Amino acid sequence: MQDLSLYIHIPFCDHKCIYCDFYSIIKHENINQYFNSLLTELSFYSENLKKKYVIKSIFFGGGTPSFVNPELLNSVITKIREELNVDDRVEITMETNPGTVDKNKILLVKSTGINRISIGIQSFDETELKFLTRIHDRETAIKTVYDFYESGFENISIDLMFNLPGQTKSVWTSNLKQAVELPVNHISAYSLILEKGTILNKMVLDGKVKMQDEDYDADLYELAIQFLSDNGYRQYEVSNFSKKGFECLHNLAYWRHKEYLGLGTSAHSFINNKRWWNYSSLRMYMNSVASKGYAVRSSELLKPDELREEYVMLNLRGPGLNLKELYVKYGNTWYEHNKKYIDKLFQSGFIIRNDNFIKFTSRGYALCDEILSNFH
Ligand code: SF4
Repeated sequence: MQDLSLYIHIPFCDHKCIYCDFYSIIKHENINQYFNSLLTELSFYSENLKKKYVIKSIFFGGGTPSFVNPELLNSVITKIREELNVDDRVEITMETNPGTVDKNKILLVKSTGINRISIGIQSFDETELKFLTRIHDRETAIKTVYDFYESGFENISIDLMFNLPGQTKSVWTSNLKQAVELPVNHISAYSLILEKGTILNKMVLDGKVKMQDEDYDADLYELAIQFLSDNGYRQYEVSNFSKKGFECLHNLAYWRHKEYLGLGTSAHSFINNKRWWNYSSLRMYMNSVASKGYAVRSSELLKPDELREEYVMLNLRGPGLNLKELYVKYGNTWYEHNKKYIDKLFQSGFIIRNDNFIKFTSRGYALCDEILSNFH
């Protein structure tokens, strides 16, 4: 049996945040029909998958999965358990936004078997939260973490965002300080990216908001790496930090180039060297599932050199590259081509090297994009 991760996209949100370019829907009349489509789509794939795979992680992402009734999430989990082989220690994550859950809802979430919570806090600073048009304030963010913790969730992650327009080092540091005081074992720290088509992009084009420059972004990132490492959070991927044993299994599978099935609008899948992605539009997704059982918009079969390239890049961005495994899967070409550069990176302190394993140091992660672009 091989490992498989499942991603389930829940596109519904309370409102649209100014910086968001995810496919999210603020009209809610189709929620029940959407979940019926998810169950149909799952059944379409399950017969083939059952023969070969065991499910190691399930991730409800969005959108805002915590916005919907937990009974609906439970209907998906129950069907997964009925139709697929699920590992006894399966990690089941639900992305959550503060302001969409109370203690009663959290108890319902717990009864579904969801055992990992990823909370989109983004900032503890009231001015920043208002700027980002989040629905929560600082107090609600902190209360949400404690409500989950006191309800028995040990595996809690929070998302924080840096390099917001006007964000000082002092505000970013106080966000990080507040984060490590909470009972969270995992922190994701992302730089605010300006995406085309967002309200924020228009504000920038209209001259109403000014983004900060790349050097300052790098300073804030390095500050986060240092601060989180000083406080016991080990960096295991470009944007992810955790206490020992609390790395996200779902993230790790992705960074290790393992196979995954995505269900729902805009979800991507990668199985048998083939990648495919679903329709983004809710209507097209549901119509396609109703008529065919699946909703693939397009697909591609990756060639061996493309697979090797992805394998190397994802592992290096993530938990590190096992050279022996690389050799077994894809031969020695990549290493031979890049050996001298790897030696140079090692001597300059950008990577660590143990037997057949190479991994970025904090300095390496900070320059990761530039370094990766130099490999060939
Ligand atoms: S809550 Fe998340 S997915 Fe929904 S609009 Fe805001 S950023 Fe986008």
